Amino acid sequence: MREKEQSDVYIFVKAGIAFLVFMVLCIAVFFIYVEKDVENNIQNTIENHVERQSYHLKSVIDTHYGYMEAIARFIGSQDEITGENAMEIVRYLYEDSGFERMAIIDEYGNATYDNGVEKVVSSREYFQEAMKGKRTLSDPVESKVDGEDRVILCVPVYRHDKVAGVLCGSYNVGTLSNILFEDIYDDEGYCYIVTKDGDMVSMKADKQYQTIGPEDNFFDYYSKVKILSKYSMEEIYDDFMNRERGGVEIDNGGDRRYLTYEPLELNDWMLCYVVPVKKAREPYGFIRTYEIIFCLVLAAGVAALLFFVIVTNNRRQKLLMRYAHTDALTGCWNKRNTENLINEWLSDPRCTGIQAFLMLDVDKFKEINDGHGHAVGDLVLREVGDMLRSRFRENDIIGRIGGDEFVILMKNVPSEELAIDRAGKLVKMFREMEIEEMNGAVLTSSMGLAFSPGNGRTFTELYQCADEALYETKKKGRNGYTVYSEKMDDGEQGENL
Ligand code: GH3
Ligand code: MG
Repeated sequence: MREKEQSDVYIFVKAGIAFLVFMVLCIAVFFIYVEKDVENNIQNTIENHVERQSYHLKSVIDTHYGYMEAIARFIGSQDEITGENAMEIVRYLYEDSGFERMAIIDEYGNATYDNGVEKVVSSREYFQEAMKGKRTLSDPVESKVDGEDRVILCVPVYRHDKVAGVLCGSYNVGTLSNILFEDIYDDEGYCYIVTKDGDMVSMKADKQYQTIGPEDNFFDYYSKVKILSKYSMEEIYDDFMNRERGGVEIDNGGDRRYLTYEPLELNDWMLCYVVPVKKAREPYGFIRTYEIIFCLVLAAGVAALLFFVIVTNNRRQKLLMRYAHTDALTGCWNKRNTENLINEWLSDPRCTGIQAFLMLDVDKFKEINDGHGHAVGDLVLREVGDMLRSRFRENDIIGRIGGDEFVILMKNVPSEELAIDRAGKLVKMFREMEIEEMNGAVLTSSMGLAFSPGNGRTFTELYQCADEALYETKKKGRNGYTVYSEKMDDGEQGENL
């Protein structure tokens, strides 16, 4: 039985562990996929943002081109493209244009600025390209007028369908980055523009979270930084060369950021965008909160389930043990358990003083069976069991050890006399038992009494003595008790009919 209980517990524990491992695996897989999705969402959000920034910048520049082309058409219709009329309109319009400077350049490269300054710019690429009939936007160039870094927008001026000169407007590079609208990440992210070789075109230099500086080269700077994504620096370089967008996660001494880049439709420029990982993940913080709540609820559920299973199992085990140890007919302990319980008790440290071992046998029980039927015989045994259990203390041991034989171990009795007195009272109670089905026939019993430690210290020793005493009672005419002694004939005798 004990082995079976252990193997049940073992199976239960194994099933519990297997269930928990399975649950943990499922949750881990679920969380990994949620994390991946969050990561993809963040990357997509940033990429969309960069794409919008790029589109925004392109449309602002296009608006400027359109504005300049309208002026260029007017200039082209004048007799002289750098004549007084043309310069007058440039001076008049440039203040509202957003440009820092405007100039008209004749076909030989002689530039006349809105402030009247004249310079030769024939060697400049923006001039040469515009003379081919293209809209051009220069990389930052140092102004010949005031030495500041500027980008220059140029459109060709047509006269009689031929390029007769160029109209230019210039931005300070800072103005270019001001065109990039404000950040969606509370200003913790920042944008900058670099050429495909990584040289800085434009950046706002006053950003608190900015680490790369206006003098840095993109590739030189990020080759010193740890890239956490699968992408390598070479692949980023290839993206720049092939004008493809991309994004990586970088770790700059514990400061983790997302770096995203997108080709601008302006020169070979790339728009780069940097945002702290922590900031980008903020909108998804609720998922972590829900994950924690989910884990706690699940853990509580599993704990409740385990608790329920353990309690139910214990209850079942106790019931099974009870069934295994009790006599099904009377509810008293069965023979084997009675013997075990008595032996255990006799060697228990709490077993002090006198232990009374009372053995009891129903008189002429066969006649009850024969006269009233076996079912009535069973009923009598049940009634006897109930009566014994109600008359003795709960911790006394009451067992049915044979057909109509019962044993009662009265624990730690104050004196032998008290136990003998109880045996006498029990004999009387038997006689007074009323069992309807026996049609008024009187039930009697014979008892034998032995004491521990005087007559023995084990069940077997006490049983032998009590059995001898019981035999003596039967011999003397039943319906009474006998206290065991070496010479029973001279020993103490109980009541007999
Ligand atoms: P004595 O006065 O000497 O004890 O005579 P007795 O007839 O009681 O004889 P004994 O104690 O030896 O017989 C016990 C009988 O109990 C024998 C058997 O038929 C009967 N018996 C044993 N188990 C059961 C049971 O579970 N139910 C019933 N109804 N009878 C049982
Ligand atoms: Mg009997």
